[in-house]
Amino acid sequence: MAKDHQVKAKKYLGQHFLNDENIAKKIADTLSLKGYKNILEIGPGMGVLTKYLLQKDITTYVIEIDLESVEYLKANYLNLANKIIEKDFLKYDLNNVFNDESFAIIGNFPYNISTQIVFKALEMRHQIPEFSGMFQKEVAQRICEKEGSKKYGILSVLTQAFYNAEYLFTVPPQVFNPPPKVESGVLRLTRKENYTLPCDEKLFYKVVKTAFQQRRKTLRNSLKTLNLSDILREDVIFGKRPEQLSVSEFIKLTTLIENDIN
Ligand code: SAH
Repeated sequence: MAKDHQVKAKKYLGQHFLNDENIAKKIADTLSLKGYKNILEIGPGMGVLTKYLLQKDITTYVIEIDLESVEYLKANYLNLANKIIEKDFLKYDLNNVFNDESFAIIGNFPYNISTQIVFKALEMRHQIPEFSGMFQKEVAQRICEKEGSKKYGILSVLTQAFYNAEYLFTVPPQVFNPPPKVESGVLRLTRKENYTLPCDEKLFYKVVKTAFQQRRKTLRNSLKTLNLSDILREDVIFGKRPEQLSVSEFIKLTTLIENDIN
């Protein structure tokens, strides 16, 4: 491929290429680079973030599903050549590359799969001390939101159970080609020192998801399907709605339920 050939944006891959160098550099600088030796950029496209990552004193890998983008990267970033993973991030077993080592995730993510990216990262949290990047603004806000807000939900609780989440800044549509219909938001997740829960983690996921499926109901009603004892359901916590519970209260709730079932 000729060097100056531009990749044609494909809608089904969520391609919106960032064309503002200052913003690209600012996003690349959101990682602290502390506590890991590798970075994995998801969806590099034409490498607008990648080129700033490559300037850092750390090993950068990229994972990209689009063959045309991969060819562009190979032609334009010669020192990236053996660090390009031509795969679908959602399906690929990253330990083929990282062998249980830690890595940070960064990206201007494809918005159509952005929540799935977060869920996969949470599954691999033992290896991911830090995660930053750009989402649709609404999604970035939901991830970082605290209890008591309408945007607070499954994504907020599950992410913040393991990471401290900071909303960093908003990016307008005009700096992309083609411009998306929505604003974008950049966030940073920093893994908590203790990222294993003091309760059954599977049950925690189940409780959080079940509670938010009927977010206007009290937990007494929404958690009926979990077959809890009448005594437990008398506890004051069951009179609350899910958006009123902090992450630690969800952990407490899960512990109560765990003891009730056993
Ligand atoms: N980071 C670039 C491109 C952003 S667009 C920029 O800021 O300009 C999102 C990128 O994610 C595209 O390059 C798209 O091909 C890639 N992508 C979409 N789905 C993917 C998947 N499942 N795995 C890896 N990359 C993916």
